[in-house]
Amino acid sequence: MANETARREAAPTAAPFEGSAKAQAMIERIDRFARDELAALESARRPTEEPGGERALYEQVWRRANALGFYGMTLPESMGGAGFNLLDQALIKEFVYATGSPLAPHILGDLTGPPRVVGLIDQVTPDQMERFILPVVRADKAICLAITEADAGSDAGALQTKAVRDHDAFVLDGRKRFISGSPFADIAVVLASTSADPAERQITAFFVEADRPGYRVEGGYKTMAGQSHTADIVLENCRIPASNQIGATGRGLALALGRITQTRLLLCPTMTGLATAALNDSLAHATKRRQFGQPIGAFQAVQHMLADMAIDLAAARALMLSVARTLDAGGDGRAEAAMAKLFCSEAAFRVADRAVQIHGGEGIIQGGRVEWIFRMLRMYRVLAGTSEVQRNTIAKDLLARKGA
Ligand SMILES: Cc1cc2nc3c(=O)[nH]c(=O)nc-3n(C[C@H](O)[C@H](O)[C@H](O)COP(=O)(O)OP(=O)(O)OC[C@H]3O[C@@H](n4cnc5c(N)ncnc54)[C@H](O)[C@@H]3O)c2cc1C
Repeated sequence: MANETARREAAPTAAPFEGSAKAQAMIERIDRFARDELAALESARRPTEEPGGERALYEQVWRRANALGFYGMTLPESMGGAGFNLLDQALIKEFVYATGSPLAPHILGDLTGPPRVVGLIDQVTPDQMERFILPVVRADKAICLAITEADAGSDAGALQTKAVRDHDAFVLDGRKRFISGSPFADIAVVLASTSADPAERQITAFFVEADRPGYRVEGGYKTMAGQSHTADIVLENCRIPASNQIGATGRGLALALGRITQTRLLLCPTMTGLATAALNDSLAHATKRRQFGQPIGAFQAVQHMLADMAIDLAAARALMLSVARTLDAGGDGRAEAAMAKLFCSEAAFRVADRAVQIHGGEGIIQGGRVEWIFRMLRMYRVLAGTSEVQRNTIAKDLLARKGA
């Protein structure tokens, strides 16, 4: 059965599919899309390539994924979304990343599409809905989220970019660092300080169109995974209409981080999906590669690595899915989502490390999938809240629950 194949490849687990029949049907459609169309788009590329300038290629993926109903999956049903709960979303996203495709972040629009605006839908004016949200939902425009600055990383509230009111406009000055998707995004959600007092943390969010005078992108660096779609946004005397302000003054961080618990949880399937691809590749390699007259999978040392990979992956998936169920049931789950983000990122990296070991020399030559997954997964222990910041959140919440 096609769906059985898809499921087996997504996660080498004996457990029955935990999601809904509708989610399973979407996974089957994504599987066909990945095999029939995505593979052809990728064929001319090495798996490590992810140049920021390839907007035309990304757009092809966005538009097809939109036409097939994947792109807006995370949106509410009133906006054309599938109305999936978090459990279904996690399972679908995991499958997307288990394809091992470098174009995976574009299928559901994780990088610059609907998941970036889903938290803003209830906050925007009708005019902003027309100008900013709907074009992103329709895959006509790409959007990025710009919080980080040179001196404001984990401490996002320390940002120094200024937005100064001038009649019916705001004038923005500052430099945002490490902004995913910025080299090809049409719109940025920029967080800036609207307080005249530098000691006061009054942070407000704005839509800023990339074609405004005073807005430019400066890149020139790549991530360790070879991606050049992360760059700086420089704002110099960049004038935007006051109607571009999102929500209330001073509510910028709350807006941007309002769905932090769901966001943290929904990063986990990216990691478990990539780890699944690494385990699947390792199982195939252990069967195919022969040394000393036998498949390397016959050696107990290799078998134990495969076993440890499967244990880490199973534990990571179990935590991710249990947190999804908690949140779907209306639980708070803030600390638990931070636990899942931390554990999945660290367990998935251990899986990738063993995958490299099992692949031997092939595992450390650039261009192979396992080597690329290793570099990808190393990044998630830092991105979207480092492991140390997750531990802070977990401990703080645990102590608060005890009234400490
Ligand atoms: C590829 C990439 C894509 C990114 N995409 C975006 C994006 O789209 N939008 C955006 O706004 N930002 C983005 N970022 C920024 C990212 O969110 C930050 O890099 C991350 O939050 C860490 O901040 P930092 O790099 O300044 O590290 P720092 O905050 O300087 O941390 C350095 C070290 O100190 C530790 N540390 C810091 N504070 C504490 C603490 N209180 N307790 C314990 N340890 C602590 C950290 O855990 C880490 O080990 C991206 C970064 C990269 C590399």
